[in-house]
Amino acid sequence: MSVKREFSTHSVEETIELGRELSAMFHSGQMIVLRGDLGAGKTTLVKGIAEGFRAAAEEDVTSPTFTLVHEYSGPEVTLFHIDLYRIETERELMTLGIDDLRAEPGSILMVEWGEKFAGIIEQSSGEIAIQKTGDSERQITVRF
Ligand code: ADP
Ligand code: MG
Repeated sequence: MSVKREFSTHSVEETIELGRELSAMFHSGQMIVLRGDLGAGKTTLVKGIAEGFRAAAEEDVTSPTFTLVHEYSGPEVTLFHIDLYRIETERELMTLGIDDLRAEPGSILMVEWGEKFAGIIEQSSGEIAIQKTGDSERQITVRF
């Protein structure tokens, strides 16, 4: 990974706005791991990223904690928002068909808790790490 950029945000709206801007850094075929504790702001950032791709309105992007995979189609890309928090084994991971999603033309995958699985890390194009640095302050590091 050769590019590292750091940002800080001070509100939910700033994080969503950052997501809109970051969407310009991504292109189809990529899989990005979103790192950070529960409540760090991973899903909040994806709201902005989905808006940046004109794939969904921020209020329509919700956590895929239970559904595991959400799909948002835009004019140029299809964003798959995946949450592996509840996935415990490689076998369960296989059932999600992540390789098939990656193979779909125009797909971009944003994977929360992707760092749980070595195979996901190895195949990822980069990561976004979010750290809570205050009640409404977040440090966001993008690495490619
Ligand atoms: P995750 O997906 O990492 O578990 P969420 O995006 O679902 O996290 O939740 C982030 C929580 O942190 C929300 O309750 C949100 O209101 C709160 N929050 C406070 N400040 C920020 C900020 N600057 N950026 C993102 N979320 C924030
Ligand atoms: Mg989340």
